Amino acid sequence: MTVTQHAPGGEATHLTDADVVVLGAGAAGLMCAIAAGARGRRVLVLDHANKVGKKILMSGGGRCNFTNTGTTPANFLSVNPHFCKSALARYTPADFIAMVERHGIAYHEKELGQLFCDESSKQIVRMLLDEAAAVGAQVRTHCAIDAVEPVGERHFRLRTSQGTLDCGALVVATGGLSIPSMGASGFGYQLARQFGHEVLATRAGLVPLTLSGRPLERLQDLAGLSLQVEAGCNGASFRNAMLVTHRGLSGPAILQISSYWQPGDDLRIDLLPGEDANAWLAARQRARGEAELRTVLGDVLPRRFAQRLCEAWLPSRPMKQYTPAQLREVAATLAAWPVVPSGTEGYRTAEVTLGGVDTAGLSSSTMMSRHVPGLHFIGEVVDVTGWLGGYNFQWAWASGHAAGQAV
Ligand SMILES: Cc1cc2nc3c(=O)[nH]c(=O)nc-3n(C[C@H](O)[C@H](O)[C@H](O)COP(=O)(O)OP(=O)(O)OC[C@H]3O[C@@H](n4cnc5c(N)ncnc54)[C@H](O)[C@@H]3O)c2cc1C
Repeated sequence: MTVTQHAPGGEATHLTDADVVVLGAGAAGLMCAIAAGARGRRVLVLDHANKVGKKILMSGGGRCNFTNTGTTPANFLSVNPHFCKSALARYTPADFIAMVERHGIAYHEKELGQLFCDESSKQIVRMLLDEAAAVGAQVRTHCAIDAVEPVGERHFRLRTSQGTLDCGALVVATGGLSIPSMGASGFGYQLARQFGHEVLATRAGLVPLTLSGRPLERLQDLAGLSLQVEAGCNGASFRNAMLVTHRGLSGPAILQISSYWQPGDDLRIDLLPGEDANAWLAARQRARGEAELRTVLGDVLPRRFAQRLCEAWLPSRPMKQYTPAQLREVAATLAAWPVVPSGTEGYRTAEVTLGGVDTAGLSSSTMMSRHVPGLHFIGEVVDVTGWLGGYNFQWAWASGHAAGQAV
């Protein structure tokens, strides 16, 4: 395969020959290049952005939550929950950690198996580029892909801003739609459709939820306040922090549940996670009968939040005045505080895109198209989306590695 680049002076430059072209120099694309290069394949990675791995750089608050030691297929959403199993089993968190350790990158566990760099996400990008260089894979930035045409069996022709090239294996690793300002594009979905693949409806995931009308009015001035909750929706629930924002709700518990939320659904938020609310209230009634509900709640919830809860959702009076039936009603609200979001903050702030290339059209062991030999889809562009906590990178590494073994 040959790439011809038109240098600023107008002179055509012969760049390289390769067997495999990977579109997208993000997490999945670079891992695929490393795995394919290690097998002796000549690999070229093309990216339209001005630098590689932008999402890696901005991830984990600049420290990249690069994997989760507790990764299992249950941590992913997909129409086919079995699809991710094969790739995840063949490239595990331990495999990625071994690479990180080989490069002397210091890391730590923050919580719940989430591993972060001690210093900077830049170290992960550097590591991937060094690994790619070590196996001879080439990476080109500033390269826009104008068109991809099938020329014959296992033969694709790419028209790019740096020239036209042919290849036998094409790996699409162009990611999802989140954070368009970082180079995200719908190009992978467009390519999938062009080659006859089904693309499942996409929506923003791991994203703050918005409120409107009365609920927003009631909470807006508490923006910045955070509390531990268990947020539930559509059979899933996550115990972690919830943050009140100027537009609605955020924080890890809300980001997690946002991936399960569909417009119109209500959330059920347990404000006393891990407690039997009824037993807890009854104990407080015995111990502090003269104290008002808002004061008692203020001992375990942020005081202003407890106050607002009692102004808008719960009747507050001295604890001794509640009958057992009334206490049960209060307990029910505390255990399942109902919130109906009006929407999400959208792709502008979402960490991931749900939906994407239908796994029914792909092999789970090679990520190759079932009907276009030589064409592979990996990473976030595929309908596999992880929870918050390093799972999305683990999917990118694992699916990239799976394709890299096969191209
Ligand atoms: C703010 C933020 C923080 C995150 N933090 C974490 C975290 O800590 N842990 C975690 O596991 N996940 C995190 N994620 C999610 C994670 O970044 C993604 O799931 C992961 O990067 C997906 O990898 P990918 O290779 O499929 O896509 P990407 O990493 O998005 O890479 C896609 C690449 O394709 C290129 N591209 C796109 N369109 C074209 C085109 N038309 N032509 C050529 N190139 C193209 C892009 O420029 C990009 O380089 C975070 C996401 C965001 C937005």
